[in-house]
Amino acid sequence: MKALCWQGKNSVSVEQVPDPTILDPKDAVIKITSTAICGSDLHLYDGYQPTMKKGDILGHENMGEVVEIGKSVKNLKVGDRVVVPFVIACGHCFFCQKGLFSCCDTTNPNAEIARKAMGHSPAGLFGFSHMLGGFSGGQAQFLRVPYADVGPIKIEDDSLRDEQVLFLSDIFPTGYMAAENCDIESGDTVAIWGAGPVGQFAVKSAQMLGAERVIVIDNVLERLALAASASHAETINFDKDDVYDRLMEMTKGRGPDRCIDAVGCEAHPGATVDGVIDAVKTTTGLATDRVHVLRQAIMACRKAGSISIPGVYVGAGDKIPIGAMMNKGLTIKTGQTHMQAYMRPLLKKIQDGEIDPSFIVTHPMPLDDAPKGYEMFKNKTDNCIKVVLKPNS
Ligand SMILES: [Zn+2]
Ligand SMILES: [Zn+2]
Repeated sequence: MKALCWQGKNSVSVEQVPDPTILDPKDAVIKITSTAICGSDLHLYDGYQPTMKKGDILGHENMGEVVEIGKSVKNLKVGDRVVVPFVIACGHCFFCQKGLFSCCDTTNPNAEIARKAMGHSPAGLFGFSHMLGGFSGGQAQFLRVPYADVGPIKIEDDSLRDEQVLFLSDIFPTGYMAAENCDIESGDTVAIWGAGPVGQFAVKSAQMLGAERVIVIDNVLERLALAASASHAETINFDKDDVYDRLMEMTKGRGPDRCIDAVGCEAHPGATVDGVIDAVKTTTGLATDRVHVLRQAIMACRKAGSISIPGVYVGAGDKIPIGAMMNKGLTIKTGQTHMQAYMRPLLKKIQDGEIDPSFIVTHPMPLDDAPKGYEMFKNKTDNCIKVVLKPNS
């Protein structure tokens, strides 16, 4: 089959590779109809995520048709149309039983590497480095799905197009859990750093959860324009305005009640002093993550407010203003999304017409054009906000 393979920093290519097969009785194989490029794929592309190997197949936002199932798979049959979550979970361990699927204890075969880096291993993820399982991703014609009874959800309503349900695989639940994690109360003002795809879904989710005002911070004009047009969000362009000063103006000095860092480890800090130090430290290996957005959120958030971090961080960052965090009484919640807990309730919101996630798609493309898609998405050219690849059409 054809697959998009990681070749090294800033290099991907479409290659012929062997088709995936059933390796365990709990596996299924899916023929991919749609797969998206995610902002977190860019951390792999940029070489930020450790333990990538040449030839690894990327892609964790996948859907398609079941073409083969292992002997013990009960919930799926050949021909089913499914969306596959990016988190691989067993459904039985201590964490899965509590609904904390991204903390699953059993699905990362390379847990020891992750334990050394993080103290404990999170769940295995599709297409996301060897430290997180070394599972092949779905930017390919076919995908092996382990624990197939636990992850994929069936889409039985044929009137829903792929683009309406595909983002149940990651960015819609991720935006939703990000909003839930900052305990929004009705009437709150929510500030969201990063108007990329997760940020856009965080805006819509914050509104569903009762936010009165949502303020989005970015410097990519078409992203700010989309947040304003698709969700009536207020916007701050950090190239034009000082973010802290502007947020204080907009909230009469109190600060936003809730803050969401939908940027993560590759923040573009503009010309700030801490941003320059981060750049030097990450380039020389003294730190791995640029935590500019998190620092800014801690400083701007109102006293006793809360901060949610869906943005991906990979290692260590420094100069986090812990004094401000403690003295202001902030609550911080983070985490990879507990996907399996969100997919069905959010599918219902799509079916009920509360949201149509296809608003985010700007660039549908064949798989062969995926390298071009990565470049456009990374460099934000041609107003590219979200690329959807079609490997089998
Ligand atoms: Zn993703
Ligand atoms: Zn588990």
